[in-house]
Amino acid sequence: MAAVIAAPALAVDCPGNPGALGTSRTLVVDPKEHPRIGTMQYEETLPLQDHEVVLTFDDGPLPPHSTKVLDILASQCVKATFFIIGRMARSFPEDVRQLRVAGHSIGTHTQNHPLSMNRMPVERARQEIDEGIAATKAALGEAGGLAPFFRIPGLLRADAVENYLASQGIQIWSADFPADDWHHISAARVHEIAMRRLEAKGKGILLLHDIQGRTVAALPKILQDLKTRGYRVVHVVPATPDRPKTPTEPREWQLHPVSETVAIARWPKIPRFVFASTETLPAPAAPDPDWRATMLPLQKFSARPARSLRGAAPVPSRPLWPAPSPLLAANASIALPVPAPSVFEFKEKASSVLQHAVIQSLRHAEVRGARNGAAAAGKLRSTNRIASRRIPGRVPVADHSLKHAPVTER
Ligand SMILES: [Zn+2]
Repeated sequence: MAAVIAAPALAVDCPGNPGALGTSRTLVVDPKEHPRIGTMQYEETLPLQDHEVVLTFDDGPLPPHSTKVLDILASQCVKATFFIIGRMARSFPEDVRQLRVAGHSIGTHTQNHPLSMNRMPVERARQEIDEGIAATKAALGEAGGLAPFFRIPGLLRADAVENYLASQGIQIWSADFPADDWHHISAARVHEIAMRRLEAKGKGILLLHDIQGRTVAALPKILQDLKTRGYRVVHVVPATPDRPKTPTEPREWQLHPVSETVAIARWPKIPRFVFASTETLPAPAAPDPDWRATMLPLQKFSARPARSLRGAAPVPSRPLWPAPSPLLAANASIALPVPAPSVFEFKEKASSVLQHAVIQSLRHAEVRGARNGAAAAGKLRSTNRIASRRIPGRVPVADHSLKHAPVTER
């Protein structure tokens, strides 16, 4: 049975595309044995070999983008894992079923995508998790097909949330690298970031969003480059009584290299700050029509109005989903708020040498940022006092939250 499951979908198995990337193997995991994966936040990640990649897509389904992502993956016979938002499943249940038809793994991503699971009462977090699962199950119907896989919105983890998910036998998927596709960047940039970060780690879980037009545009070239550069796609499924886990050694769940070139994996701990609310930041200077098209259908899923940090008037409600940064990328390094320290919590402490190097590189980045964006910084300081604090450990891109900016990206 296991041998059958593990049989690779070779290019010859991809009708109409003999040169397809394909899916090289299926990895069967036991969520209870490895409850938290993804080196952006956790010690363990999937037991991949060098040049193996797992593709993940969050926040859908949302046609037409999600549909196009499915078509692109199908054309290359690539299997991925999708983290579904419950309210999207309610709105587009047929699109959830299409994931099952296509043979992808289906996990969940809460009911409403709150970017506050790191600070909300655990009862509310449980409700978000449970409702998201129930809505996705309802969309899938009796045939089922939901995997016990979960991704926390914005990767904004909390102990209580993790403990609850573990108690339910649900595996939390962080990631090994994002491609910043929720930011206001071009498709070419998404492709470039995805490939560069993958090359830096050599393997891992890539975080993408199937609701973004730029991701749809970038995906064919990402898959093409994976093929050209010798990467292999691995499909991950949960173990069941009929489907035993793939045998692995504990050390295989550790990402091997200590030398990090992607600055998100082993970040020194930073002090606890109050989060600056991005809702108080200015609107994009140059609206992206693609972004607007993506977000438009989501307006009905708006968050409650958030209060600014100064306690002034509430800002208008806005969609909960990750959206492109409201800042221009060139100015992001000096202006954006700081992520929760929990994002960077690693049991494995960085060496003092590494810490020094990291802080030095950040200072350099800040100097560059200051040159490029002093004017914008001044404007933002007046907008949000908290956002202007100068902190040496500031903001590498660490998750797919609105609150984070690609400081180290130029
Ligand atoms: Zn998300």
